Amino acid sequence: MASSAGWAAAWVAEVARVVTADRERLTALDAAIGDADHGANLERGFAAVTSGSTAGGTAGEVLVGVGNTLISRVGGASGPLYGSAFRAMGKALEEPVTGTGFAAAFQAGVEAVGKLGRSAEGDKTMLDALLPASRALAGAVREGCDAREAFRRAAEAALAGARATIPLVARKGRASYLGARSAGHEDPGAASAALIVGALTAAGPAW
Ligand code: ADP
Ligand code: MG
Repeated sequence: MASSAGWAAAWVAEVARVVTADRERLTALDAAIGDADHGANLERGFAAVTSGSTAGGTAGEVLVGVGNTLISRVGGASGPLYGSAFRAMGKALEEPVTGTGFAAAFQAGVEAVGKLGRSAEGDKTMLDALLPASRALAGAVREGCDAREAFRRAAEAALAGARATIPLVARKGRASYLGARSAGHEDPGAASAALIVGALTAAGPAW
């Protein structure tokens, strides 16, 4: 492991890559129950993140910077929500990074979404992918799994959580304006959250 900051920079670079690769899918999901800008929002936000300086410092400092950039560069609900998540995770992440510390920081990031969005599990939002991922990560660390296995389980839980939003009726965000008609579609934010969690693995072990 070169440095924790290098790890964090590699994670967000992979996020930028995968949200760009899946931009059309995210946009199509948002077209069905929102306003068709989620793919573009995230592509723009993470492109701004990776063009900014991520050299030096700690993983926590990198993640706080990522959060600030997302908040200032992404219009729409997802910018402030993901921005707050990265900021809170960065502030909570202590050096040296350990499995327990990483899981606690990830949880702090996820909790920031619920606090800002006044949302909870089952509202058909990004939280429906993020909360299961956070529980899977913490559980894997408690069991003594290494980072690779902990990230794999978190990614699997996030994907399952995103798929499980399909039958839900949205209670938060634009999709909630559709009422019962929001059922039958995967939530775009839950889909992007699964991509963000899935990108953890590509950055290599964080501890
Ligand atoms: P906008 O809805 O403003 O166009 P985006 O399309 O970028 O913003 O993001 C939409 C996603 O944001 C939704 O799919 C949902 O996952 C998430 N979201 C919206 N409102 C909330 C909220 N109050 N709490 C958690 N997530 C939310
Ligand atoms: Mg939208």
